[in-house]
Amino acid sequence: MLNLENQRFVIMGVANKRSIGYGVAQVLDEAGAEVIFTYRKDRSKDALVKLLPDFKNNSQAKLIQCDVEDDAAVVKAFEEIGQSGQINGLYHSIAFADAEDLRGRFSDTSREGFLKAHSISSYSLVIAAREASKIMADNGSIVTTTYLGGEIAVQNYNVMGAAKASLESSVRYLALDLGAQGIRVNAISAGPIRTLSAKGVGGLNTILHEVEERAPLKRNVDIKDVGRTAAYLLTDLSSGVTGENIHVDAGYHIVR
Ligand code: NDP
Repeated sequence: MLNLENQRFVIMGVANKRSIGYGVAQVLDEAGAEVIFTYRKDRSKDALVKLLPDFKNNSQAKLIQCDVEDDAAVVKAFEEIGQSGQINGLYHSIAFADAEDLRGRFSDTSREGFLKAHSISSYSLVIAAREASKIMADNGSIVTTTYLGGEIAVQNYNVMGAAKASLESSVRYLALDLGAQGIRVNAISAGPIRTLSAKGVGGLNTILHEVEERAPLKRNVDIKDVGRTAAYLLTDLSSGVTGENIHVDAGYHIVR
């Protein structure tokens, strides 16, 4: 049984109990870690307030507002977190694209929509990693969440696929950059999970069905599947691993 007592982790991007970040929080909480949440919308804060009593060790968790489109807000959030001590890891679980850019023709993507998706879904990792690294204890770890659509063209994923490719490349460059400080940076490529964000992607039901039919494990993954791999990547269990992208997708990515 993993024991993460006296370890502190920041999770960015829990909107409700279906969020991948919530699965990560559950696994870390069960292992005895302290978890600090950042959120954007008040609606997410309200959902978190309702979820906190279910945690064994984090019923009083700190909730800090942080819109990642605002550089100053990111700097302030990590300064505030650092005032109560160092952190051991960061789980980044944030993405956004306008609904019209997640269906139809990719070539119709507007410049504005393209930049917005990349700013929130990819650049946010770069600035969060920079600020988190300032308050990180020795051997810290940063993990983000990506999708197969960043590696291959998946119908409808469109601008988010381009943003995930950028995110995955940023993982490698951050790993090279922050490795000198002993900080590891990795990604989890999660299979499709019915979350608020995923519902914005056209044809989600078809994708979920196809994974169930074709993935080696003949099922879809859930947020705790992702959470357990996140716990591995966030802790010394993965001490020699950095710049990696681990697929938590029931093996779907190996099948053609
Ligand atoms: P959720 O909708 O539950 O989580 C997305 C989170 O992104 C929300 O908490 C949202 O906060 C946050 N967010 C969006 N814009 C901003 C912003 N400007 N500033 C701060 N936070 C922001 O969906 P998921 O849990 O599915 O998504 C988490 C990650 O997992 C994303 O990167 C997604 O691409 C990735 N992923 C998801 C898969 C899936 O099938 N569900 C598969 C593979 C990867 P708020 O609501 O408060 O704005």
